[in-house]
Amino acid sequence: MEWSQSAQMYERAKLSLPGGVSSGLRAAMRPHPLFFERGAGSRLWDVDGREYVDYVLGWGPLILGNSHPALVDAVTRQLAAGQSSGAGHSREFELAERVCAAIPGMDKVLWSNTGSEAAQIALRLVRAATGRVRFIKFHGHYHGWSDAMLLGYRPAADGSLDGLTSRGQHPRAPADAVMLPWNDLPAVAAALSGPDHDIAAIFTEPALCNSGVLPPAPGFLAGLRELCDAHGVVLVFDEVITGFRIAYGGGTERYGVSPDLAVLAKAIAGGLPLSAVAGRAAVMDLATQGVVHAGTYNGGPLALAAADATLTELARPGVYEAFEERAGQLTQGMRKALADHGVTGAVHHVGPVVQCTPGVPAGDSFATFMSADWDWYGALTVELLRRGIYVLPGGRWYLSTVHDEADVNRTVAAFGAAVAATVD
Ligand code: PLP
Repeated sequence: MEWSQSAQMYERAKLSLPGGVSSGLRAAMRPHPLFFERGAGSRLWDVDGREYVDYVLGWGPLILGNSHPALVDAVTRQLAAGQSSGAGHSREFELAERVCAAIPGMDKVLWSNTGSEAAQIALRLVRAATGRVRFIKFHGHYHGWSDAMLLGYRPAADGSLDGLTSRGQHPRAPADAVMLPWNDLPAVAAALSGPDHDIAAIFTEPALCNSGVLPPAPGFLAGLRELCDAHGVVLVFDEVITGFRIAYGGGTERYGVSPDLAVLAKAIAGGLPLSAVAGRAAVMDLATQGVVHAGTYNGGPLALAAADATLTELARPGVYEAFEERAGQLTQGMRKALADHGVTGAVHHVGPVVQCTPGVPAGDSFATFMSADWDWYGALTVELLRRGIYVLPGGRWYLSTVHDEADVNRTVAAFGAAVAATVD
């Protein structure tokens, strides 16, 4: 049996872990979740001894690849010097200063551990800042699994994009969110019209990485900025995927629009759990005026040591140019492979995030993303595994700083062979 050791481990894991996984989305991996022994650079090795070029990268954080020597060194040294004092240390403010220097318009930082947490504290801050409760959230965007935020990411049980996403979620959560289509500025303007709108904030990924890696329509983010300024609404960019990835200064730098708050996680610490809310002092200082932000592990030295090493590597000249080049090569190669085999599908990228949207001529909206042929793509991911390529189920491929041209060439060849295997 292929992946027999992984299959056995998966069966055993199901006995002690609900669904055999530690994050529900991982259960979507085909043919079943794999179990890994180690990673190095762009490569992963599973418990069956198979080697893969890794485009999952821990679902995004490993922007320096697996076990980058600079990150290993920084974390090891910190571990030997103490894993956590639960008190102040210099990296807390040094890294905060670097985040503020990187992202235009940011004055202060609150550290936490996961993107979901940081999005939740951002929501608390905007409610405190405005005295309002409701917020605008866009279809297909993901801001973590909290009761308040887990709305409109994928169709709810009733098929709508406005209903509850999880069993057990607070039933009144949808009442607090105004769910709108993304890139539709008139819809946002309409929601904010009238003197007594009750909207505290707009939350948006600056590029919609979670549902098709879609760039914002020209003028959309600037339009949100103007509407927020005109109506006293806080603009929040969820840069959990885009931050330090699609530019050093994330979507804020790439698209030239500054939010009031930016939520960061994933790439910032290269794979250790670290998240942050960065923002303008007027909002951030509410954390000293009655807004509770707490956490045993907040600002933990191990994660901040990893962030220190990661940001140092990402700040080297040429990193983001290399991302564009590598992602361009991969995109072109995948497009050609699809065309050579007469398979309809779109491939594009924003920075080092490549998206393959199968079965549609253009992956240009949340609607096309949702109508894509994900059954076929699931079969393709298995053929890719057989050929040593490890990818996510939703068509998103992450590149790291250590994926080189040879990795991409090997991947393009494997992709062509995998496509051929699914259509023969
Ligand atoms: N926001 C965005 C844009 C994300 O993509 C994610 C996770 O993928 C989150 C928030 C939640 O982050 P975490 O999984 O660290 O809680």
